Amino acid sequence: VGSALSFWAWGRADRFPDLAARRALAEQVEFLTGRAVGPPRDLPVAEKVRLPPPRLAEKARAPVVPFGGGTSVVGGVEPALPAGFNGVVSLDLGRLDRVLEVDEVSRCARVQAGIRGPALEEQLAAHGLTFRHYPQSFEFSTLGGWIATRAAGHFATLATRIDHQVQAVRMLTPRGPYETPRVPSSGAGPAPQGLVLGSEGTLGVITEAWMRVLRPPRWRSRATVFFDGFAAGAHAARELAQSGLFPSNCRLLDPGEALVHGVATGGAAVLLLGFESADHPLDAWMARGLAVAGAHGGRCPDGPSSGERTGDAADAWRDAFFRAPYLQSALVSLGVLADTFETACTWDRFESLHETVVSRVEEALRLHCGAGLLTCRLTHVYPDGAAPYYTFVAPARAGAEIEQWREVKRAAADAVAAAGGTVTHHHAVGRVHRPWYDRERPEPFGRVLRAAKETLDPAGVLNPGVLME
Ligand SMILES: Cc1cc2nc3c(=O)[nH]c(=O)nc-3n(C[C@H](O)[C@H](O)[C@H](O)COP(=O)(O)OP(=O)(O)OC[C@H]3O[C@@H](n4cnc5c(N)ncnc54)[C@H](O)[C@@H]3O)c2cc1C
Repeated sequence: VGSALSFWAWGRADRFPDLAARRALAEQVEFLTGRAVGPPRDLPVAEKVRLPPPRLAEKARAPVVPFGGGTSVVGGVEPALPAGFNGVVSLDLGRLDRVLEVDEVSRCARVQAGIRGPALEEQLAAHGLTFRHYPQSFEFSTLGGWIATRAAGHFATLATRIDHQVQAVRMLTPRGPYETPRVPSSGAGPAPQGLVLGSEGTLGVITEAWMRVLRPPRWRSRATVFFDGFAAGAHAARELAQSGLFPSNCRLLDPGEALVHGVATGGAAVLLLGFESADHPLDAWMARGLAVAGAHGGRCPDGPSSGERTGDAADAWRDAFFRAPYLQSALVSLGVLADTFETACTWDRFESLHETVVSRVEEALRLHCGAGLLTCRLTHVYPDGAAPYYTFVAPARAGAEIEQWREVKRAAADAVAAAGGTVTHHHAVGRVHRPWYDRERPEPFGRVLRAAKETLDPAGVLNPGVLME
């Protein structure tokens, strides 16, 4: 349903920004970076693309790349051709798109892995249930992709990533099915599920999973809190994460993020605080949350509000959040680099990590692009640390875009590693993050992972090059 997907840009072709919108975007980037942008480049035309004939005969021994929604940002579904092979098979899981069974008593659903976010919500709604996992790629990414990459979505605290919602999972491996038991929790040794979560298509094809589902929230409370600086906001976010209040939303935007997402223009950092429940009113939680924020200088001039859409800053943020991928494609068409990177670190390292990342990435932007803009938000917060998420925008030189992008990404990942952060909080490893992942994971664990690969995929045909050689 809906218009065709773009073959080169994010999302639906008819939602790609038109020429006037792209010109307006160019003006904004010029204002923010102080550098001339454009003119808009000619857009790729499908008719001009020539696909070579298939190189693989049926039954050829060939690598297989499981393909969910194809929204990987780390080169997870690129069909890189390993030595000794003639071609690669991309395995489209899009037809595994149904909720198969609902256990209302335990509040779980058995769901096929190729289902995309909107179809999952629609089919669960027929049972009066919801899943509430909203990564920014929600419209096009799939349950199997979320599990295979350990995606993080809606909830800023507690059930931040998909792991929390997977009760049991079924994966087909070249050695046969790998199925984990349906239990709410088990202390029987290392968790078999742990091998599937984050396996990124290298150990098997996830075909279905029993997922924990929810009753839709009946009560909501939300507030927009302004801080004089990002550091003060981060102190408040930390105390909120450690308070036991567990807000569903606790996203802190630095002044640049607040500006480009249309949330605030006055140079303030903005905390979007929210609570939701299917069971009880939330006034007491919000009152305490605002008191915590207030103790760090947070101001909430409009007070809290309830309801799904109230036209407040959180709505502006959510609209901009789902529009942003279209703008990223539009920026590329203007000759502007636009990408993101993210990490997580403990609170004791947060300030120095942020400082290191900002100074090194801004330096890389100046060096390789001549100018650039770097913004940050905290997407998820934990009692022991935070997940900062960075966006960079910079003018690119025609023909040198990939090299410039690579240099900025390298500077970012090096800075994160030097400052004690992980190479990724939720974007996964793929091919792009491999060098840093190889250094980050304990060496014995690397050997265990390779042994698992040799056991489940002895011919090494599943997504070669991702996670490990
Ligand atoms: C604009 C944009 C916004 C994003 N926002 C978020 C976000 O908010 N949170 C987040 O966590 N991520 C985000 N991502 C990253 C991406 O959407 C996630 O990694 C997502 O989980 C990938 O799902 P997918 O179905 O598209 O998987 P794909 O991109 O198709 O595949 C990703 C990896 O999983 C493997 N895989 C896919 N399906 C299966 C399966 N059934 N069995 C085994 N392996 C499989 C693939 O081989 C590949 O290695 C974003 C990406 C984009 C482009």
